[in-house]
Formats: sequence, structure tokens, C-alpha cells
Amino acid sequence: MMCARCNKPIEPGEATEVIVNPGATAVGADIEIHAEPCAPARQQTAPDGRWR
Ligand SMILES: [Zn+2]
Repeated sequence: MMCARCNKPIEPGEATEVIVNPGATAVGADIEIHAEPCAPARQQTAPDGRWR
């Protein structure tokens, strides 16, 4: 299982939070993230000018 926030693998036994994706009823709608705050893989506020 990959963390949906930092996009890194969640190790067995590591604390996670499960988020049920609203509107998605297919298998795999539940996503897991680290229970502890982790750095998002994609940052919305990119300092460089390539975003615009
Ligand atoms: Zn994470």
C-alpha cells in the first residue's frame, strides 16, 4: 500500500489513516495515508515559475 499523500510505501505495522474516497465505489476506493504528518509528494505552491 502506498501513502496517498507522500506517495511513499507504508511499512507493515506502521500507523496509517484510511480515507474513503467519496463518490468512488470501485475496489480500491479506500486510500491510506501515514497517520503521522508526512510531506505531500506534490506541492500546490510551487515556487518555481514552471507551474504557470
Ligand atoms: Zn505518507
